[in-house]
Amino acid sequence: MNQIDVTSNAKINLTLDVLKKREDGYHELKMIMQTVSLYDIINLRKTDSGIFLKTNLKYLPTDSRNIAYAAAQLFFTAAEISGGVDINIKKTIPVAAGLAGGSSNAAAVLTGLNTLYGKIFSEKELCLLGEKLGSDVPFCIAGGCALSTGRGEILTPLPDMPTTTFLIAKPPVRVSTAAVYGSLRADKLTDGMISAIQKHDQSGVAVRLFNVLETVTAKEHPIIKKIKQDMIELGALGSVMSGSGPTVIGLFKDKKLANDAKNVMLKRRFDTFVVHTLKRKTEI
Ligand code: ATP
Repeated sequence: MNQIDVTSNAKINLTLDVLKKREDGYHELKMIMQTVSLYDIINLRKTDSGIFLKTNLKYLPTDSRNIAYAAAQLFFTAAEISGGVDINIKKTIPVAAGLAGGSSNAAAVLTGLNTLYGKIFSEKELCLLGEKLGSDVPFCIAGGCALSTGRGEILTPLPDMPTTTFLIAKPPVRVSTAAVYGSLRADKLTDGMISAIQKHDQSGVAVRLFNVLETVTAKEHPIIKKIKQDMIELGALGSVMSGSGPTVIGLFKDKKLANDAKNVMLKRRFDTFVVHTLKRKTEI
């Protein structure tokens, strides 16, 4: 095999809780992440040496500042092989949106190169490599639904929910993550969410969608609150900001309602997608 196309899926947060600030400066998180059907496509082509990256988004870096490039560097170093790769990323996942677009690209490059070069690493080893690139990368390698703790790198798989429809809407605002993490208020909704997921209780999941960062970010960007209200008026059973934002997600029982709501959001020029939850690809 000389080349491979890998899909690189976005994640959404069903919950996000910040428990405390740690002595190492990181925040102790407790959150539930879920892979969804929105994806970038990454073509990886084996070459003799060097890493060359291009993407359809001209403003993204194409050197080691691109996390997909850094993932390839790390793979070759860890595998101790001399080889190269041409990476071509077709981005659809909105950038800096709270959807783990970059982390997912890194995970896809690690997994894809591992396939191209003959499964040098086990999935567990790939996750350990991924952790060096970013706390969300191990989750993106396995996907599905998982409780994530520590900085986000400690994963406990949760049962797959029945396929559930979400509407994703990203308004054109920039969120400063540092400012968001500065002022927090923790809560305990994640445990309730876990039992709703275990019971396959979609309505229970919808009413427990929760993100502690939203309390700060929505104050700074009232558009986030407005999109949440609109999603509920348009039929969502629950709505919340994903990750560090500004993207808002809404859980819809009915795909048609979600598509109707999408058409309303598109008129406002938001990046909008109707997606569904995906099951876990591998064992963590
Ligand atoms: P997370 O949910 O993990 O916090 P995010 O969705 O908020 O991630 P990303 O889309 O990963 O944010 O982008 C964060 C930054 O990373 C951007 O400013 C971007 O310039 C940079 N970046 C580097 N490589 C990539 C990549 N392959 N795709 C997207 N962004 C990248």
